[in-house]
Amino acid sequence: MTVSSFAELGLTDRLLRALADAQYDTPTPIQSQAIPLLLDDADLLGIAQTGTGKTAAFTLPLLQNLEEDAAEGVRAEPRGARALILAPTRELALQISESIKTYARHMRISQAVVIGGVSQRPQVNALRQGVDILIATPGRLLDLASQRLVDLSWCDYLIIDEADRMFDMGFIRDVRKIVKMLPEDRQTLLFSATMPAEVAKLAGEILDEPERVEIAAKTVAVERIEQYIHHLSGGDKRERLAGLLEGSEFAKVIVFTRTKRGADKVVKFLATDKVVAEAMHGNKSQGARQRALENFRSGKARVLVATDIVARGLDVDNVTHVINYELPNEPECYIHRIGRTARAGAEGIAISFCDPTERTMLRDIERLIKRPLDLVGDGPVGPDEKPAKRGGGNRGQGGRRSGGANNDNGNKRPASANRKRRRTRRPERRAA
Ligand code: AMP
Repeated sequence: MTVSSFAELGLTDRLLRALADAQYDTPTPIQSQAIPLLLDDADLLGIAQTGTGKTAAFTLPLLQNLEEDAAEGVRAEPRGARALILAPTRELALQISESIKTYARHMRISQAVVIGGVSQRPQVNALRQGVDILIATPGRLLDLASQRLVDLSWCDYLIIDEADRMFDMGFIRDVRKIVKMLPEDRQTLLFSATMPAEVAKLAGEILDEPERVEIAAKTVAVERIEQYIHHLSGGDKRERLAGLLEGSEFAKVIVFTRTKRGADKVVKFLATDKVVAEAMHGNKSQGARQRALENFRSGKARVLVATDIVARGLDVDNVTHVINYELPNEPECYIHRIGRTARAGAEGIAISFCDPTERTMLRDIERLIKRPLDLVGDGPVGPDEKPAKRGGGNRGQGGRRSGGANNDNGNKRPASANRKRRRTRRPERRAA
């Protein structure tokens, strides 16, 4: 179904006003498909990556359902939450929390964020009276649950975001443990950019006759982003990066490395070139990561150097370029990385460096996106030489000033009146 306005999706005036404030004119495909289903209490399997508008797709109906529940007198219990959103990383959890603030600005909705790396005390305090929405990463949530500081047995809505990344980060067991703490009679949504077997298995276990909405990840990234490849030796990467960053069009740049050490090294050498860059990776404290992100968002730092895990789901507006200083081991990561540019309809440019040791990674990426990247300058260098046969590399992107050389819990639901029986409501709604 394609609809041209949020009003047609059945959202309340309060939500419509918030969307108008945020200058959202038209629902994205995942929003127009998922919102009516979710207002109808369906379970949902959403195959979509960040950048498709999936956060609003699950948050808007959740807010509306919570408001209806509140009107019927259903409220959060002490230490409890009416809805739980699980996210793999702290950054994503904080970002979801910010989105909720935006969409719920004309409503009375309470929320708490439970993430690791920071003191648990404010989180415990926030939960004491109970909240409408709890956004959490699995580790800290299990930690609080084991201390009996959070009670999930009253939670009627469960949203698992970026399930494939949960799996990559080794959280699937934790997620299963958490799901057991919720009542079986609930609305469950699972979002994942890809569907590895483990995630499909989890979805099969926890979703009840789910509706399925799939937004092709590849089209989101690939169609709107100009993608270039520079073949060079590992030793030349540094100079090439510095050369590119001399261009004023490189106004807001995310540079990706495979490792934390690699990220620190890039920040260091850029500093010698007087380029203000921030590193963001898993070894940094939560405070340092947030500061890095803020400096980048505000423009104090022109460059953010990041590893894959923390960067997934990063939402910064107007990123002009993504530079893959090192190619990712997993080709899917390439799509997630380049998705940081071209957010919400904007155009973007992605430039990848490939040294002779990364040739196989490049081949896997090109196989996944089903096309070769546009070649800038010379073809592959080094031992595994192959002819430069691709064209189109110099469309005012990374070729210019490119370093000189190229110009280029138990599951029984508690018997309390203060819970919503979601499933009993569902058939009525469907019949309506
Ligand atoms: P997400 O996929 O949820 O990370 O959203 C990606 C970005 O798109 C965020 O910056 C949202 O604020 C923005 N966004 C989501 N839905 C819309 C919409 N319908 N119109 C304009 N921007 C949107």
